[in-house]
Order: sequence, then structure tokens, then C-alpha cells
Amino acid sequence: MIRNFDFIIVGQGLAGTTLAHIFLQRGKTVLVIDEPREITSSKVAAGVWNPVVFKKYTQSYIAPTLLAFNKTFYPVIEQRLEASFFHPRPYYKVFSNEGDVNHWRGKLHNPDVEQFLSPEIFTGIDTQAYNAPHGSAPILDCGNVNVNTYLASSAQYFESLGGYLPDTFDYNALELKAGSVEYKGNSADKIIFCEGLYARFNPWWNHIPFSPAKGEVFVIEAQLPENEAIVNKGVFIVPLGNNLYKVGSTYRWGDLENTITEPAKTELIEKLNELINVPYTIIEHKAAVRPAVVGRRPVVGLHHQHPQIGVFNGLGSRGVMLAPFFANQFADYLFENGELDIEVDAKRFTQTV
Ligand SMILES: Cc1cc2nc3c(=O)[nH]c(=O)nc-3n(C[C@H](O)[C@H](O)[C@H](O)COP(=O)(O)OP(=O)(O)OC[C@H]3O[C@@H](n4cnc5c(N)ncnc54)[C@H](O)[C@@H]3O)c2cc1C
Repeated sequence: MIRNFDFIIVGQGLAGTTLAHIFLQRGKTVLVIDEPREITSSKVAAGVWNPVVFKKYTQSYIAPTLLAFNKTFYPVIEQRLEASFFHPRPYYKVFSNEGDVNHWRGKLHNPDVEQFLSPEIFTGIDTQAYNAPHGSAPILDCGNVNVNTYLASSAQYFESLGGYLPDTFDYNALELKAGSVEYKGNSADKIIFCEGLYARFNPWWNHIPFSPAKGEVFVIEAQLPENEAIVNKGVFIVPLGNNLYKVGSTYRWGDLENTITEPAKTELIEKLNELINVPYTIIEHKAAVRPAVVGRRPVVGLHHQHPQIGVFNGLGSRGVMLAPFFANQFADYLFENGELDIEVDAKRFTQTV
């Protein structure tokens, strides 16, 4: 017997999970298919959101719009799942030198970022525990999503609705019909691929020009006084509770393996030693590859030849901030005749196909 859904979603990382919730909120039925993998970009991510780009102290891509949407989206989903994973927190930028402090001060009245930069320099963090001779200042409107809790509680929820299949998607088993698809006894109006970097192997989306960035993170155990704040100087330290902190992350291009490396370990240790003055133990070291694309914008929309096949990808290093707003824009496009931003529309890559 055929089971009917409005959508099949392939991939249950930040992209697929968020899209499934948005579709369910719109009253659609969803089957989520995800290959259970211990390591994925979403599972390794620190889940931090931060509206300011460091070094230049500029606003990150449409930050106010994204933050406004997320402040409603994540708490509503927390309630639905009866789980806690959305954590607004103070985020302290520790300055590297006096030039860095002056750069910050120079941006305090810049309309691009002033709403996110606090003028309260030299406040907040404990200078015994943190090495901050040039001071620090809080960035406003930051926090982190505990992505593993978000994904695990969502998987349970999708399963409770009869819409979850832990399996590797077999492209050869997909049948394209007029205005629908069929897959192993399941029928849907559309199938949306949310496979992150694995889209390189997808026959309909392997033309997406990825620019993948590998990252490595630690989980450390330490007694730090700022156990509710994120602190950053070269690396960020994100509180996980129970004296555990996520520390990261590195950036390497050209290595697509989820394997940990000695150079990244050395880099993280050196930067961590520059930032904190307390002893710590490394509990965990993990690596994954961010699904960034050329142009660094999400990839959203329908296939140029097969409108029953869609994609939601390209979240790069900012999946937590980008996923809810663009999943919602995708839903508006599909159900309300809304527009996709030209710079995120998947069709931008088909001219070269
Ligand atoms: C070290 C590191 C730190 C990061 N820190 C942050 C951070 O602090 N804040 C932030 O916002 N972002 C961060 N990111 C980026 C973030 O992880 C990504 O933006 C996001 O996870 C991308 O999600 P995704 O769902 O597109 O891809 P993925 O997480 O890769 O998920 C894809 C899913 O699809 C499944 N899949 C793929 N192909 C198939 C198939 N054929 N059949 C079935 N299932 C399939 C995979 O198993 C996986 O579950 C970080 C990334 C890394 C690597």
C-alpha cells in the first residue's frame, strides 16, 4: 500500500529538521529520511549565533531579519517538542590589542552594527580566569542552539507523527511522476533534498558549487567563572553545562574528511591557552565539514527541469541563524506564491549546467 505525504525531506541536519518543522506548521505532511551518521556538520556544530562579523566588526548577512525570526521560531519548536535547546547568552569579545579596542570604539555609532555593540568595554569577564589585558565587550543578541538536542528531539517528534525513516536514500529508487514522486511505497507532491555536502553525490543537485570548510572542535572540562557566557578571542568557548564547554573552531579548505587532525588540535590548544588561565581537560575532539557554497548564500528552491524536486542547502558556517528564515521563505514560495531572494534561489546555478 502506498503512503501519501505532501513532502519527502531527505536529510535531518539543521536544514532538513527546520524545513520539516516549517512545513508541519503550515499543515503539510512530511516524511523525513535520514541516514544515521555519528558525525555530521550539524552534530559537530557549536550552534552559536552572532550578528557581528569579527575583524571588520560589520553586521552579518541580514542579521536583524534573521534574529527577529529565530526569536519566535526556536522557542515555539521547543514548546512543541517539550525540549530546551535555544539559549540566548551574553557573548564577550576579548580584544587582542589596543588597535582592536579602537576599531570597536570607532564602530559604536555606525548604523550598520551599533545595535549589536555594547559600549561597556572592560566589563563582564573575570580577568583572573581569562587572559584579557586589553579588555572585552559584550556583543548583544547572541546565544547558542544545542543542535544535538534540537535534532534528537525533532527526530522523535517526526517519528511520533509516522514521518521518520532512518535510512540512506537510494537515488535509483526515486520515480518521477507528473507532478509527484514515489519512493519505496511512499508518494509525495515534492521531494526536498537537505543533504549538506552529500549533495555532491545527488544526480539532481551535484552542480551546486560547494566551497566546503572543514572545522574542528573540542569539548573541555574546566572551572570557569563565566559559566553562562560565550567568550571569544581567536576561539570561542560555549558553555554546555556541568563545567563542560565547546571550544572552536578551525577553518581548513580542501580536506573533506570528518577526521580529526594534529594541526587543528595544536591550533585550538594554542588559542585556548592564550584565552584562559585555568586548567582544563580535553574530553572530546571532533571534525566535520561545513556545507558552504561559492558566494556564501543558502541554496533554496526547485530543480530547473523537475519542479517536483527541491533543495535546501548551502547553510555554510551559519546554519542556526539562516535555516528558519529561509525555510519559511521557501514555504511562502511554495504555498503563498511568495518570491525567493535572487541570491539564494537554486536556479542561480543552473545557467552554468
Ligand atoms: C566545526 C563546526 C562548527 C560549526 N559551528 C557552527 C556554529 O557555531 N553556528 C552555526 O550556525 N553553524 C555552525 N556550523 C555550521 C553548521 O553545522 C551548518 O551550517 C549546518 O549544520 C548545515 O546543516 P545541513 O543540514 O545543511 O547539513 P548536515 O548537517 O551535513 O546534514 C545533512 C544530513 O543529511 C543526511 N544525508 C545526506 N545524504 C543523505 C542521503 N542520501 N540519504 C539519507 N540521508 C542523507 C546526513 O546524514 C545528515 O544528517 C559549524 C560547522 C562545523 C563543521
